[in-house]
Amino acid sequence: MTDMRKPRHNTTAVTVGGVTVGGGAPIVVQSMTNTDTADVEATVCQVADLARAGSELVRITVDREEAAAAVPHIRDKLENMGVSVPLVGDFHYIGHKLLSEYPACAEALAKYRINPGNVGFRDKRDRQFSDIVEIALKHDKPVRIGVNWGSLDQELLTRMMDENSKSPTPKDARDILHEAIVYSAVHSAEMAEQLGMGRDKIILSAKVSAVQDLISVYNLLASRCNYALHLGLTEAGMGSKGIVASAAAMGILLQQGIGDTIRVSLTPEPGAARTKEVEVAQQILQTMGFRTFVPIVASCPGCGRTTSTLFQEMARDIQSHLLARMPEWRKTYPGVETLNVAVMGCIVNGPGESKHANIGISLPGTGESPAAPVFVDGQKVATLRGPTLAQDFMVMVEDYIEKRFGQGRQKDGSLAAAE
Ligand code: SF4
Repeated sequence: MTDMRKPRHNTTAVTVGGVTVGGGAPIVVQSMTNTDTADVEATVCQVADLARAGSELVRITVDREEAAAAVPHIRDKLENMGVSVPLVGDFHYIGHKLLSEYPACAEALAKYRINPGNVGFRDKRDRQFSDIVEIALKHDKPVRIGVNWGSLDQELLTRMMDENSKSPTPKDARDILHEAIVYSAVHSAEMAEQLGMGRDKIILSAKVSAVQDLISVYNLLASRCNYALHLGLTEAGMGSKGIVASAAAMGILLQQGIGDTIRVSLTPEPGAARTKEVEVAQQILQTMGFRTFVPIVASCPGCGRTTSTLFQEMARDIQSHLLARMPEWRKTYPGVETLNVAVMGCIVNGPGESKHANIGISLPGTGESPAAPVFVDGQKVATLRGPTLAQDFMVMVEDYIEKRFGQGRQKDGSLAAAE
């Protein structure tokens, strides 16, 4: 199959607490907590959940003295739990002060996020920005210069809008907004370089909340620099809207080779797990063929040919069973994340789709004889019937995993024994 992806945008690699971002490294999944960082127990618990879900970097808010004081304790507790995920500090307004007054916080963090629009105003802006960069240099930490259109430097935007209005051929105001966002990011990075920070310590982001704007801004950003890029649609929203918007915007940019690390900024449903944003980020990367994280279950949508809920229940149960077993299987079955399982509703596409999977089952549709053929690596190997059909198929899936990815697997990846 022809790979339609463009080569990755050529960016400078940055190491964040042992994780490489950019320079052609696999695209990194990251997330952010929504606990009060001063609440050490709650933050440790959520960081650990995010890391176990697959977040390779976790950002925490450092908004006041109590939060800065908590950071080294959070780091220590995570280490004691065996969770070594790098922590990124999110600073606004008083980051320079917190980082200088809490050196243990500066040391415990693997990266500092600076928002050029929130780092100070007028004459203080450059001084406070410089202070953070100098602290990062002292502790040998990288920074993310993260512009957000919700907090864009308004003096800069006004100046660029004024200049544009005086031009004989003024551009659209939206184009100027995009220019201002990109200018703010690149100019701040250049300032950091002038202060002695290497390109291998700088990651840029330029987040907006509308899909088309994000695509324009990141295309512009990628054309102007080779800094490693953090990609994300800010304020993506809740539920399917947030997921669809993030996938559409990031999918297009990733396909263009733009983006070295991604975060999906979903608004969680009240009480819902924060780990959803990690799951969605992984699914974007996996469904686009950039990385593999968990086995995929292909299932048809169902139609008038399947009026029972059996196949819906099977697809759901198999998916959740595979996900639940992954923490253990990752250790015992290397490569199991590449597994494809198909659960199909009837004979129309069932056998065909099942043959494309590693292991697939074609359930009987309405009016078909109550038998479900099972295919393994394209070959029909069994026909299941009766009330234990779902459990029997799950046993076959587990058996396949053992033979394919377990210790007795064949070197060429074929099954150890014929079915
Ligand atoms: S495989 Fe069968 S049940 Fe599933 S959508 Fe196609 S026709 Fe309908």
